[in-house]
Parts: sequence; C-alpha cells; structure tokens
Amino acid sequence: MNKKNSLDENKKLLLFDIDGTLLEGGLYLHKEAFLKSVKKVFGMPAEFIDFSPNGMIDRQILKAILKKNHHDSSNTEKVNQTLKEMGEYYAAHSYDIKSNAVPGSRECLSLLKEMGYFIGLLTGNAEEIAWQKMKDAGLEPFFTKMGAFGDAMVEERPQLVPIALSRAEKETGIRFTPENVFIIGDTPRDIICAKKNDIRSICITGTFTREELIKYHPDLIIDSFNEIEAIIKTLSSPPKESPARQLTLEMDGI
Ligand SMILES: [Mg+2]
Repeated sequence: MNKKNSLDENKKLLLFDIDGTLLEGGLYLHKEAFLKSVKKVFGMPAEFIDFSPNGMIDRQILKAILKKNHHDSSNTEKVNQTLKEMGEYYAAHSYDIKSNAVPGSRECLSLLKEMGYFIGLLTGNAEEIAWQKMKDAGLEPFFTKMGAFGDAMVEERPQLVPIALSRAEKETGIRFTPENVFIIGDTPRDIICAKKNDIRSICITGTFTREELIKYHPDLIIDSFNEIEAIIKTLSSPPKESPARQLTLEMDGI
C-alpha cells in the first residue's frame, strides 16, 4: 500500500443536510421561490403541496407542485428553468429573510474542519439556494464547495449520494469509501438515504422526535450539536453491521 492510499483511508467525508439540521426557520422564502417561479415559467399561479416536503428534494417538490396545479411536470426543460428561476429569486430576496444557524452548529463545523474532516452538503435544496442559505447564516467558510443538491437530474434523495461522492473525488482527489462517509440530517429520509447507499448517518432531533427517528436506526441521534463528544466518537468508530439494513422494504415510499 503506498503512502497516498494509507492516508486516504483515514479521510472522512461528512455530508450535511441544511433545513432542520444546520438551519432553523427561513423556509417561507424558499416556498415563495417555488410559487413565484412556477408562475413565471408556466404562466399560471400555483398552490403549494398540502403535505410535508421534509426530506424531499426540490426537483421532487416542484414536480409535486406542478402535478397538483395541473401543469406539465414532464417538461424537463421547463422544470429546469423553474429551478434556475428559484435560485435567482431566492438570492434576490434573501436579504429580508432570517434563517438562523442551529445552536452549536458553527462550533461543531469549525472543530470538524479543524480535525481534517471534509465537509460538504447533501441537501434537497437547489444548489444556488443551498449556498445562499449557508452564506446568509455565516456557515459557508466551513464547507468545501462540494456535495449534491435538489436540482440534480434525479428523482429522489438517495440518488444524490453517488453524485456527492463523485464531486468529492473530483474536488479532493480522494475516493471516499462508504465506511468513510456520513450523512448528517434531521428526517427519516436522510437516514434512509444513507442506508440505501450503505453509508452511516447522524440525525438531530427537532423536526422529528427521538422516538420517531429511532425506528430508522441511524448510527447516532443527537438533540444538539453541543453533543460533540458523541459525534466525534461515532465518526471515528468502525462501521458496525446495522440491523436496519434490512428495513429498506419497509422504508420505501417514505
Ligand atoms: Mg432537513
């Protein structure tokens, strides 16, 4: 084994979700960006979906909005145009929205970066909106500009992981193996996304309770980013065989 390989084996990639994980609040503008952009591109007003989009990716949410409002959700060109408009709308209006970094997140990210972890995003947010949110919350400096985002040409969240890994390899020159990759999120969809890709997950309570999250068997549940010792212990431990790997059938459709 050459020196480079042995070094790379120790490198870990942390993929953070945004809403409900690193940030609280501020969703109003994101929702408005959907509706304003649909109106602009499809020429008709639209109503938002009447179920929770927690953990869904923007492309998936947009298609659901289009279906609900009887617009053509199969028109990829228009869907892409709408996602692009959303990013521009969000950036143009983000000055009047306050989304706050979750307490302890800044300190946690700072320490993890200092410890040599590679930090990226895996989020349902369209990329432009994602980085705007990070910038507005002052969290942008902790990230290497890599990850996978909700405007990618995929149907659902688990398909974002291979994109994130490939971008991370391009950015760092390191091929991260599944045992060295973690998702940090706040919903069952984040945990399922990790499990379907055979990677590990840490989940923060708030959007869902501990009792709700535990059913999906994340590798660690935290109530706050102040639980830094537990976080680092999980990140530095070898992967264990998770009984939850067998739950994928049950989890499908969540
Ligand atoms: Mg979230």
